[in-house]
Amino acid sequence: MIKWLKGIVALAAVLAVHPAFAALNILACEPEWGALAKELGGDKVNIYVATNALQDPHHIQARPSLMARARNADLVICTGAELEIGWLPLLQTQSGNSKIQTGQPGYFEASRYVAKLEVPRQVDRAQGDVHPGGNPHIQLSPYNIEKVAAALAERMAQLDAGEAAYYRTRTKAFLERWKQAITKWEKEAAPLKGMTIVAYHKNLSYLNAWLGMREIGELEPKPGLPPTTAHLSELLAQLEKTPAKAVVSAAYNDPRAGEWLAERAKIPAVTVPFTVGGTDKAQDLFSLYDDTLSRLLAVAK
Ligand SMILES: [Zn+2]
Repeated sequence: MIKWLKGIVALAAVLAVHPAFAALNILACEPEWGALAKELGGDKVNIYVATNALQDPHHIQARPSLMARARNADLVICTGAELEIGWLPLLQTQSGNSKIQTGQPGYFEASRYVAKLEVPRQVDRAQGDVHPGGNPHIQLSPYNIEKVAAALAERMAQLDAGEAAYYRTRTKAFLERWKQAITKWEKEAAPLKGMTIVAYHKNLSYLNAWLGMREIGELEPKPGLPPTTAHLSELLAQLEKTPAKAVVSAAYNDPRAGEWLAERAKIPAVTVPFTVGGTDKAQDLFSLYDDTLSRLLAVAK
């Protein structure tokens, strides 16, 4: 009896991990791509997300559990533009999975489908941890999400041809909802136009460009380097001449530097979710944008 029960439990565990109807095993590097794959793939996909919203996507450990997922993945969805340069190549190589290697259909780079901001004319490592392919933090422009969705749907249809119609139908419905949401967001966000902010890292550039916000400095002295007292003091002096409305950090950034500056400059410190799961309210792509806007609007006046 016990043996029989154990057998059932083991079988149930196997079925939970590999539902019979789920065709495509997806490994998403960041939560926004996991959320997008879920919108487009519905119950035809198994999704595992390599990082959570409280982790810095530049710096991730290629831990054994992640390696196991990479080994079994049919499709890896990442930002690219060298965001994951510190950990993804190792994951690809050590997985021994030929499907997910760069250049294969099983490797999808979201940033290839959008126009990138801040592409450096030359890469000088003395300038810090500069992203040579341009700014990779693309997920906070809804127009970028639109472009990535269209490309990702076609990739999923290519890899799982039997369900191609299903992916395309879901994507069409998603894009219709998304367009309506953009209209709503742009109306709501009107008061953010021209708002000056200090960011933690240069990871809000697409949001700023979309909404017409102006970033007048970053807490990091150079990209990828932690804030220093000297740099924060310089920023504080700068804010006396050019005031900012708020200091804006992403959920994964250490809030202390932002709080330090905000307190002295007598402006609010705001944390935005940055990706799905970054706050309680940001549970999918729609609520990620809803919550980002409502947090900024709360301090815009
Ligand atoms: Zn970055």
